[in-house]
Amino acid sequence: MCNHARVTGRCECGAIEWTAPMTDASAACDCHICAETSPEWASCETNDFDIVKVSAPVVGHQAGPFSPRHYHCGSCNSPVWTWTADTKRRREGLAGMSDYENPILNWNVRLATDEEGAPVRRASTETIAA
Ligand SMILES: [Zn+2]
Ligand SMILES: [Zn+2]
Repeated sequence: MCNHARVTGRCECGAIEWTAPMTDASAACDCHICAETSPEWASCETNDFDIVKVSAPVVGHQAGPFSPRHYHCGSCNSPVWTWTADTKRRREGLAGMSDYENPILNWNVRLATDEEGAPVRRASTETIAA
């Protein structure tokens, strides 16, 4: 678990920084929040996501009762990560607005660089089902 390559994500003003495992998959989101900023989300488990620096408010919004909570930098507005419920539970209608089990973190690939400082580019994207 500690051997795979990691990427560093940073909001545009540099106030918020995180690291996450390198991944091949990412997805766009079709909610109204993402329509404005067009982030591209990669997923990882919450215990594999490390917040390195937070020196501006991290502001959260939710597009709907079963949509992931979207967080952005309160200083530069960069979409940084979302916090989503387990999709199986969402489908079954068992998860409430603040009663998420097995949460997954999605971080914005567009803000991420690899261990050599190069931007992380994704080959394929899919749309997260609403
Ligand atoms: Zn920022
Ligand atoms: Zn969204």
